Amino acid sequence: MPRLSEVIAALDALWPPSRAEQWDAVGTVCGDPDAEVSRVLFAVDPVQEIVDEAVKLEADLIVTHHPLYLRGTTTVEAGTFKGRVVHTLIKNDIALHVAHTNADTADPGVSDALAGALDLRVTGPLVPDPSDPAGRRGLGRICELDHPETLREFAARAAARLPRTAQGIRAAGDPDALIRTVAVSGGSGDSLFAEVRAAGVDAFLTSDLRHHPVSEARGTSPLALVDAAHWATEWPWCEQAAAQLDAISERHGWGLRTHVSRTVTDPWTAHAPSDVPSSPSI
Ligand SMILES: [Zn+2]
Repeated sequence: MPRLSEVIAALDALWPPSRAEQWDAVGTVCGDPDAEVSRVLFAVDPVQEIVDEAVKLEADLIVTHHPLYLRGTTTVEAGTFKGRVVHTLIKNDIALHVAHTNADTADPGVSDALAGALDLRVTGPLVPDPSDPAGRRGLGRICELDHPETLREFAARAAARLPRTAQGIRAAGDPDALIRTVAVSGGSGDSLFAEVRAAGVDAFLTSDLRHHPVSEARGTSPLALVDAAHWATEWPWCEQAAAQLDAISERHGWGLRTHVSRTVTDPWTAHAPSDVPSSPSI
């Protein structure tokens, strides 16, 4: 059975912490480097439901995409939202490790998993990492569809292939417009409009899109927008990451058992559609 330090070294080789954004907080949040690891749970969010799931599974390590603490903290008191997570982890000998922006820009990264979930063919990064001579790493991905489909069909494909959430899929654009090329970015993508427009793609699939950037993008180009729940765009990475660790475990004969959490931790839990969703006026 491998030690936590050995598993973390393998994860760091997949997603080097040095490639995380400066503001980010990646790496091991808690855990004893000498502890043995046999079960690993992958999830998007380090929230209490996920920690409870890990306790039930008797997992020794949780790997999440989102950090637990992003800013400085002065308390892990168990009455606080995050303090309770820390207490549960330590009481149950469960380590927590985070791969966030270092997983976003990796090859394969979060957006490769998103593209894969929709069977899109990745042609390259949307924002290439200048330190990668091969040009494969970077933020977001530019993709091609095997056959052109309408925006209506593409949005339906995203709804069918991504995990089910209360939000579902929102789209902006002519529903009959033909989509051949798509930019995808797991997580919040509305800082990437300039790059998406420069890429000249037909559609942009991401999450957390806001009124003004969408309005401006629609007013200045035929770019179609497809907005999924933040959690749903990043969840496919958990399956990809678990498969990567499985391969490493097999190579080393570690016998790790990996699990991917299916608990929906998107904070939005209900959706009430309007009676006439396509009505151009109220
Ligand atoms: Zn995210």
